[in-house]
Amino acid sequence: LVVVDHVNKHYGELHVLKDITTTIHRGEVVVVIGPSGSGKSTLCRAINRLETIDSGTITIDGKPLPAEGAELARLRADVGMVFQSFNLFSHKTILQNVTLGQTNVRKRSKADADKRAMEILDRVGVANQANKMPSQLSGGQQQRVAIARALAMDPKVMLFDEPTSALDPEMITEVLDVMVGLAKDGMTMVVVTHEMGFARKAAQRVLFMADGSIVEEATPEKFFTDPQSTRAKDFLSKVL
Ligand code: ATP
Ligand code: MG
Repeated sequence: LVVVDHVNKHYGELHVLKDITTTIHRGEVVVVIGPSGSGKSTLCRAINRLETIDSGTITIDGKPLPAEGAELARLRADVGMVFQSFNLFSHKTILQNVTLGQTNVRKRSKADADKRAMEILDRVGVANQANKMPSQLSGGQQQRVAIARALAMDPKVMLFDEPTSALDPEMITEVLDVMVGLAKDGMTMVVVTHEMGFARKAAQRVLFMADGSIVEEATPEKFFTDPQSTRAKDFLSKVL
């Protein structure tokens, strides 16, 4: 579904993505893990075309990423993204946050968008907050709304960049539970996270990145119990 082929990206002198090649299959959940600065966010942002790449190709469903315009808006709808900071529109209600893209990009009627929004807000457990403003919600609730907003677009794949790392510990589970549910329902997901529990429960594959390269690729079971590279061993000894 997502094919990343020999992708390179530089920031000036810094080579942040080094010949990255990987394929994310339909229904697959891939966890991306690695030290700070290894290029995890840059890879996610490249897949969503929030960043350009210098060489190589990325295709979604066989189609290259569009450069701009309405095509790009549709790509962003097809490739839902959830960030560490929830990034909700602060002066819009929860319901408006979840309907905006549906009406603008998916061209749904307001009634259809409202209906879909309420179904999804219910699914992530915050339907009763629909008329509040983001600032009135807890971090965990806001992050679930951010997930709902992406889901409402009926994405082909969801990218999560450290979705729980800005949350207080007691709110992490409620967000991870939603993500595990999505994985069980067959959503294709790329998840940057150090939450080993999530990886074990939901992921088919772990990509370990260091210094802009994919250093190791394995099942979560294999990666966490028997990492092969020194980089991965070092990293795991620090985070586990
Ligand atoms: P973290 O775990 O801290 O989120 P990461 O693996 O997500 O790290 P990236 O954010 O992808 O890492 O960054 C990779 C490298 O690119 C880092 O060295 C970072 O400083 C650099 N970088 C990221 N964004 C930019 C930018 N806009 N301009 C210049 N350098 C950047
Ligand atoms: Mg990052």
